[in-house]
Formats: sequence, structure tokens, C-alpha cells
Amino acid sequence: MSAADYDAIVLGAGAAGMMCAAVAGQRGKRVLLLDHAEAPGKKILISGGGRCNFTNVNTQADRFLSANPHFAKSALARYTPTDFIALVNTYGIAFHEKTLGQLFCDGSAKQIVAMLLEECAKGGVDLRCGQPIGAVTHGDGRFTVRFGDQDFIAPALVIATGGPSIPKMGATGFAYDLARQFGLKVVEPRPALVPLTLGGDDVLFRELSGIAAPVEARAGKAAFREAALFTHKGLSGPAILQISSYWRHGEPVSIDFLPGAPQGWLTDAKRARPRATLRAALGAHLPDRLAETLADRLALPGELAALTDRKLADAEARLARWAFRPNGTEGFAKAEVTIGGIATAGLSSQTMMAKSVQNLYAIGEAVDVTGWLGGYNFQWAWASGHAAGQAL
Ligand SMILES: Cc1cc2nc3c(=O)[nH]c(=O)nc-3n(C[C@H](O)[C@H](O)[C@H](O)COP(=O)(O)OP(=O)(O)OC[C@H]3O[C@@H](n4cnc5c(N)ncnc54)[C@H](O)[C@@H]3O)c2cc1C
Repeated sequence: MSAADYDAIVLGAGAAGMMCAAVAGQRGKRVLLLDHAEAPGKKILISGGGRCNFTNVNTQADRFLSANPHFAKSALARYTPTDFIALVNTYGIAFHEKTLGQLFCDGSAKQIVAMLLEECAKGGVDLRCGQPIGAVTHGDGRFTVRFGDQDFIAPALVIATGGPSIPKMGATGFAYDLARQFGLKVVEPRPALVPLTLGGDDVLFRELSGIAAPVEARAGKAAFREAALFTHKGLSGPAILQISSYWRHGEPVSIDFLPGAPQGWLTDAKRARPRATLRAALGAHLPDRLAETLADRLALPGELAALTDRKLADAEARLARWAFRPNGTEGFAKAEVTIGGIATAGLSSQTMMAKSVQNLYAIGEAVDVTGWLGGYNFQWAWASGHAAGQAL
């Protein structure tokens, strides 16, 4: 194929790029899909512990963070989890709901990549991998992309190179550089769905590394009731990963260690087991070592009978709002996604096309739309990729 024979060039053969290329290709567009990695869909392959949590049946716009919380609505409404499940079913890929609406392959994430590649093949997409993308230029209504030592030209260009989370997987901030080159604004990117690190007084909790407990984690107005995990650096587990997207440096993260316990449970415990210690009362609900550490911190030794109801009520209140002050996150190296990215203000929510540059599109994680943990980020990749694929 000669250089000018494409209708569109899609940069990045990840979740969003493959969906976009397949949709456009199947509409009869001649699409070139480029990636610097040796193979497409690397993040899909490692996602969901190798089983790809490919969507969430509870998808709705309020499960996404963005400077404009309304931006994602249109694309999400026009390509829903039901649409993606229908595609998965067409390929006979078995799946199950693990928890909270999260759908995972029974077999392997490889099946999702194979499906997307087959969809691209059906659309006659020309997929090329393993070369660096060099200069991208624009003039006379044409985009020219340097790929390895070749130039490719097309009247439309899609930025689908994702965010910088997990650089060792080939993730880069290329999308932002390109967006800025074309005059688009970028909302400051930061790591999200990422473990938090503890220092100062909280450092003692690192000794609990490996211990998990069901908690409610809160930061600002956000709250997630799921498991938290202590690590040798600080805090992780689904509740913490979720809250990390809402947490800002300097703010506390508050943990309710007994989110299901009725008010007054500790004074009730005193009436029921007056000879028990606070540690034993906590140990009835929490892993032993966590109970021990919390009891030590609360510094109320002796039998419950010897403690006033007031002291027990104070302890209960503290256990319900235990304030950690993370000193940071484990960064892009460990972040499942990037929050922030190409500002939605410069894009059409219908088509993902830049308002200021005709036929330039941005989709997927590169855009300032970030989902909760649990399949939401792939649903955004599919939906935004589909929206652009239909508009190309
Ligand atoms: C460990 C892990 C587990 C995850 N699990 C889940 C999950 O189970 N469910 C879920 O919904 N989300 C999950 N995510 C998030 C999800 O993977 C991303 O949100 C999603 O892949 C974003 O799709 P995308 O197409 O925008 O970007 P990507 O899938 O990251 O694709 C971007 C593509 O662009 C290419 N690229 C990057 N820079 C360049 C460059 N400079 N030149 C050329 N090509 C480039 C990359 O090689 C890549 O192929 C997980 C993420 C990680 C890191």
C-alpha cells in the first residue's frame, strides 16, 4: 500500500485504538494502526490478573473522574457494557461476574486481544508494530506520521497511546506531547488506582504487611467499602486503590475498620464480655495482628469492664475514622491508570474529535476520563474508541 492510501492513522494498538480501528475499518475506512510495542494490547494481556476485567455491568458516568463529569456520558451511552458483552459472546468467550458487576474472562485475557485483532482483520486494518513513532506533522488537511524509517499520510489521526502508567509495559506520555503540539490542553496527569505510601507515625502499620481487612476508605467526599491491604510500603487493596484516585497530597485518608458494626458495639462488648481486653474485642472482628496494633495505638489496657463507656465510645469513633496521612503513592510504576490527560474541553463528546483541529481525535486513557477500579477503564476505552471509529 502506498503512503496516501489510508483514510485514518490510529496511534496506539491498545484497547481504545484497536476498537476504534476495527469499527472504522468495518465501516469501509482504510485504517493504519501503529504501535511502538512488538505486539498489540499488552496492557489488556496483564489486566485483571491475566483474565481481563473487560467491563462492568454497573457502568454509569458517575463512576468516572474528569474535569468535566458530563463528558463521558454520550460515548458511554452509545456503546454500553451490553454491546461489548454481545461482541464477547459472538466469539464464544466464556466469562463470569467476580464481584460488584466486574466481568472477567474464565480463560485468558489473550482471548480479548485475539477478538480485537480479528475485528481489526475483518475491517482490513493494516496493523504495524515494533517501530518508534517519530515526527507527526499536519498541513493541507493531511497528517504525516513517521514510523520507523517510513512516512505515512492520512486525512485523519487518532491519538490512542494511553497514559504513562506502568512505563515498563511501554506506556509513555506521548499522547500529551502530541496533544500539546496541536494546541490541546492537558489536565495534569497523576497516578491513580495506585497503592499509597505511609511514613511518620503511620510507619508502624507497615509491619502488618500482607494483612487485609474489609474496611470503608474515605478521602474527601468519596467512600469505598472493600478490602484494604497493608504492604511493606503502606496501603493497598481495592478500597485503597479506589480512594487513591480521589486523594490529594497532604490530605488524610480515613479508614473505618469496622464499617458494618452497629453504633455502641464496643460498649455492648463490654456488657457481654467484661473480662475481655480491647484487643480481644477487636480480634473478634479483625485479623489478630491488626487488632493488636490498633489496640496498642488506642492505649486502653486492661479489661473492658475497667474502661468507662465514654472511653470506649471515643475508641469506637477513632476506629470508625482512623486517619492515615499518606506521604505519597507508589507512582506511575505501580499505577493501574493515569488520572488527568488531554482536556475534554477541547474535544467533542460525541466524536472525540478536537474542536480546534479538524480530523484529529483522542480516545481512551489519553483523555482526561478515568474510571473506578473494576472494568470501567476498559469500558471507557471501548466506548470512546467506538465513538471515534464511527466518526472517522
Ligand atoms: C496492571 C494493570 C491492570 C489493569 N487491569 C484492568 C482491568 O482489569 N480492567 C480495566 O478496565 N482496566 C484495567 N487496567 C487499565 C486499562 O489497562 C487501561 O485503562 C486501558 O488499557 C486503556 O486503554 P488505551 O487503549 O487508552 O491505552 P493502552 O491499552 O495502554 O494502549 C496504548 C497503546 O499505545 C502504545 N504506545 C504508548 N506510547 C507509544 C508511543 N510513544 N509510540 C507508539 N505507541 C505507543 C502502547 O504500546 C499501547 O499499545 C489495568 C491497567 C494495568 C496497568
